[in-house]
Formats: sequence, C-alpha cells, structure tokens
Amino acid sequence: MESHEYDVVIVGGGGAGLRAAIELGESFPKLRIAVVSKVYPMRSHTVAAEGGAAAVIKSNDSLENHCHDTVSGSDWLGDQDVIETFVKEAPDELIRMEHWGCPWSREPNGQVAVRPFGGMVIERTWFAADKTGFHMLHTLYQTALKFQSLKWYDEWFVTKLLVDNGRCQGVAAIELLTGQLHAILGKAVILCTGGAGRLFPFTTNGAIKTGDGMFLAYQAGVALKDMEFVQYHPTGLPGSGILITEAARGEGGILTNKDGYRYLQDYGLGPPEPFRKRAMELGPRDRLSQAFVQEEAKGRTISTPFGSAVYLDLRHLGEATINKKLPFVRELSKNYAGIDPVYKPIPVRPVIHYVMGGVDTDVEGATVVPGLYAAGECACISLNGANRLGSNSLTELLVFGRRAAHAAAQFAAENPALASEKLKAQASDEQERIASQFIRKQGGNERVATLRLELNRLMEAGAGIYRSGDGLQKACSGIAALKDRFRNVALDDRSLSYNTELISVLELEFLLDIGQSLLHSALCRTESRGSHQRTDHTARDDQKFLKHSMAYRTDAEPRIEYKDVVITRWPPKERVYGK
Ligand SMILES: Cc1cc2nc3c(=O)[nH]c(=O)nc-3n(C[C@H](O)[C@H](O)[C@H](O)COP(=O)(O)OP(=O)(O)OC[C@H]3O[C@@H](n4cnc5c(N)ncnc54)[C@H](O)[C@@H]3O)c2cc1C
Repeated sequence: MESHEYDVVIVGGGGAGLRAAIELGESFPKLRIAVVSKVYPMRSHTVAAEGGAAAVIKSNDSLENHCHDTVSGSDWLGDQDVIETFVKEAPDELIRMEHWGCPWSREPNGQVAVRPFGGMVIERTWFAADKTGFHMLHTLYQTALKFQSLKWYDEWFVTKLLVDNGRCQGVAAIELLTGQLHAILGKAVILCTGGAGRLFPFTTNGAIKTGDGMFLAYQAGVALKDMEFVQYHPTGLPGSGILITEAARGEGGILTNKDGYRYLQDYGLGPPEPFRKRAMELGPRDRLSQAFVQEEAKGRTISTPFGSAVYLDLRHLGEATINKKLPFVRELSKNYAGIDPVYKPIPVRPVIHYVMGGVDTDVEGATVVPGLYAAGECACISLNGANRLGSNSLTELLVFGRRAAHAAAQFAAENPALASEKLKAQASDEQERIASQFIRKQGGNERVATLRLELNRLMEAGAGIYRSGDGLQKACSGIAALKDRFRNVALDDRSLSYNTELISVLELEFLLDIGQSLLHSALCRTESRGSHQRTDHTARDDQKFLKHSMAYRTDAEPRIEYKDVVITRWPPKERVYGK
C-alpha cells in the first residue's frame, strides 16, 4: 500500500476546492496540500455555470437587501448568521476574482455590470456573459497553479475517509490510471465534491455529480442536513436537460403557455406590468417550477417528444442583445433544440439542478468529526435553506471555500500527529473490500446501469416537484429493495486501468445511500416549505418544522433528528412575491 502525507487534503477541484487550495497556498505557504479530483479540475461542474455570481456592489443596493432576499428565498430555513457572514464577505471575494483575472462583463462606463436574478429585489448578479462558471473556474485554476505547495492528484477517485480515534486523517483513493488504491493522509480533510443531481433522471448536472462527499461524511457519522430540499430549475431543454440560464429571464425573457399567455400571473407571482423584481419570471425557482406542474395539469402546456413544456420567449430582446449577453443560450438552443431564439421561442421544462442539503457543517465548514471540513455544494452550511436563490452558489464556493481552508489549516497546526500505520491498514482493508466485492466477485446478476435507472425513476416518482406521504413511503420501500439487489451487482469489466464500470458501481453505492437519506427526510417533514411541497400537508408549519432535518446513517433506515434554525434579525413571515 503506497501512502502519501500532507497537512491538508482537499477532495475536489471545482470552485470550492480550488478556492480552498488558493487560500492554503497563499496564506499558509509552509503547509503541504493535496488536491484530489476524480476528473481534471477544469472538468468540474463549476465550469458549466452560466448566469452569474451574486454580491452587493452598487450604491443603490444594500447588504440588508441581499440578506433579506436570501432569508425569504430560503423560506426561513437558512441560518441567518451564515447568511449575514456570506453577504458581508461576498463583495470582497468577487473583487478578488477580478484581481486574479476574471473577465467580469462591464457597463459602458467601465464599472462591473450586474443583472437581475430570480427572487432578488435588485440587480446584483455579476456575470461574464453567460459563461460565468467557465471564466471563474479558469481564473481559479490558473491562480492555484502558481503555488508550489499544492500537489495535484488529477483522476484519482476517493472511496473512503480514513478515521482513527474519532479524527479524520486522510482518504483512500484509487489512481484511475493504474487502478491501485493509495492512502493519502492529511491532518485535516476538506470535502468539496459538489452536488448529487444524478440521483434523478432529468438533470442539468454533469455525470460526475453523484454525491460522493456527502456519502463519505455520512458513512463517517456526520449527519446529512436538509436533504429533502432539491431544486428544480424552471428552464431546462426537454430531452437533454441542458440548462437555459436564469440570466435569459434576467435579461427580459418571458414564459408563456401554449396560448402565448404569461401564465405565471395566475400563480401569485404578480401582474406582468408594471415590471417588478421578485415577480413573474423573476420569482424564485421553486414557485416557477410548481406553477409549471399546475399549468400542465390544466392542459395548457405544449407537447414535445420529451414531455410537456412551456415557451421561453427571448425574441423581443433582439439579436444584438442576445449575442452580447446570452451568446451561449443561443448556441445551446440552436445545437440541442434546433431553435434559434432570435426567431423562435425555446421549449423548456423544469429540471433537477441543485441539492440544497448536504454535509452538516458550521459556518467555518467544520463537521462534528474533528479534522473533517466541507464546502461548496456538497456541504449544507445552511445558506440556502429550503430554496437556493440563483447566483448565490458560485459566491458560496468562494466565501466558504476560503473559510474552510482557514479552519482546516488551524486544525492541522494544532493536531500534528498522524496515526499513519493504522490509517494505512484501513486503506488496505478498503482495497480488499473493493476487490472482493466487485473485481474478484463470482456470480451476481444485477447490472449497474439497470439499478441506476431504477433508482432515478424511483426518485423522480417519489420526490419530484410535488410529493405525498404515500408516494414517499413507496419510494422508501423501493430504495431499500434496490439496496438489497445491489448486493448482487456484477461487473463485466474486471480490469484495473481506467475501469469506468468500477467507478460507476462505487458512485451508485453512494447514490443509493444518500437517496435513502433524502426520501426519509422528505417523508418525515409533514409540511410544505420552499422546494419541498407535500400534497397531503400543504401549509408551512413553523411550530413543528422551523428546523433542519438531520439524517444519520444506521445499518437499517436512516435516523431522522432535527436541529434549530438560527434566526438573528428576520423572524419568520409569509413568503410573498409579485407585490
Ligand atoms: C449547468 C449549471 C449551471 C449553473 N449555473 C450557476 C450560476 O450561474 N450561478 C450559481 O451561483 N450557481 C450555478 N450553478 C450551481 C453551481 O455551479 C454549483 O453548485 C457549483 O459550481 C458546485 O461547485 P463545487 O466546487 O461545490 O463542486 P463541483 O464544481 O461540482 O466540483 C466537484 C469536484 O469534486 C471532485 N470529486 C467528486 N467526487 C470525488 C471523488 N469521489 N473523488 C475525487 N474527487 C471527487 C470532482 O472531480 C470535482 O473536481 C449551476 C449549476 C449547473 C449544473
């Protein structure tokens, strides 16, 4: 068993992982840092982000506004201390990105331009045309590359956290090139592994978003928090699930039904005129996706070969604006839907986009397991609550990637000793588990692809935009049965080098467990809040459920407990848009 020793191990080379890496390289140059990523960093999902990153910069905006939008967007489930920290540190982070070379789009006078985004009372979303994530990830990667203290483990797949004496001290990871498992030891570990949209069949998320870090922490005893809250983005391309960014509506795009009618006005999102922020097409994503389902039930959507859809109409913006502000939207629509939005409206439907829940951490990114930290989409630091506002996430990666790096560096300094031999023995056990369970296994008649497809269908049927107790119960039984069947899974590929089937089976194992935590958290939450809408419990119930769900892993079903929400300055109120 080969092993490697570091001060801090970062798992993930997306926006959160790279921001943490830069902070460690810059502020703690003596520390040795490993950045482990299952794909080359530039292929992380952050690269696909289109619309922009939120932070207060204009004099007509205020920190108070950004806090309030985020609190009400979260349906009061976001922790307000976290939200205040986030909003305060956000502008500095985006300015720092500018200094590192991020090409933010600008106004004619040279100032940074901002665009409106859903659920926000004023324009505060910084953008780089509609390829913001691409430019941000490039900026972070080129900045990170200059630090000699960072060692890159590209195309290494982490399968397990190494925990001794209750303290996390590294990871077991497969080098995909050789298929060999190594122990990568670290005095502290930061999980930055992204989301889990691939639980569902129809998603904007890249194939790598399989909730790996969520599972790793869950297995190590950390609760998965608020897993029942999953975001549908209202405008995905039918069939592929490719995202048409909210920036399209931010720039003035409208949603119409089959009769050309702006149907959102029928769902408490305001009259179309006069134009208002936080209204109509600029309402929050949960409300827009729910309106779609109701419009579909009324038979007022259009049919496509890939299910019902409504129209996103950009024609009135004109070719010049579309080319300048939304070039990628035009490219994607032409290439993947055969529609040029300059001349025709784009058919769109809600698509799974983001998991609000994740690894339970405090505001420094620390989990309850000493030495283990998390940041980015895999973490639930409780910024997003029951519904994330578009463009808060890219900024979240920066603010909390940096904070987690600080906390991890401090922990590493205070806890220098590593239980190296014991950790290496654990990694050997992990290698043997994988070999005996998958590579050398005889018999077994279940296939990875079949089980994954069934899991996807079950999640969509049980935990879609609207949920019911019966449907969730059925999905909980279904996923338990799938976990049983997983024991019989067999691989066709027994080779070592770049065995993608092996990686898929490990990802499926993660997905089954975190999917189960999601379904059970949703079943226990007998209220409707944000993205979690129950047809059998239609009201928000602050008395009982102004609380975070905490799912703990057990040998049987997850155990669900609750934790208080932190309220500082904004007591719960009705969530009103369109006024
Ligand atoms: C299409 C799309 C558009 C979006 N647009 C916006 C937007 O405009 N504004 C906004 O605020 N948000 C947007 N979001 C959301 C936002 O982009 C993501 O939440 C964010 O980029 C996630 O970043 P991350 O660093 O947490 O993870 P990711 O960028 O997903 O990176 C995860 C990293 O973890 C590594 N990893 C995972 N598992 C393992 C493992 N087992 N072993 C080793 N490495 C592992 C991967 O290799 C990868 O490097 C968008 C999301 C999508 C899907």
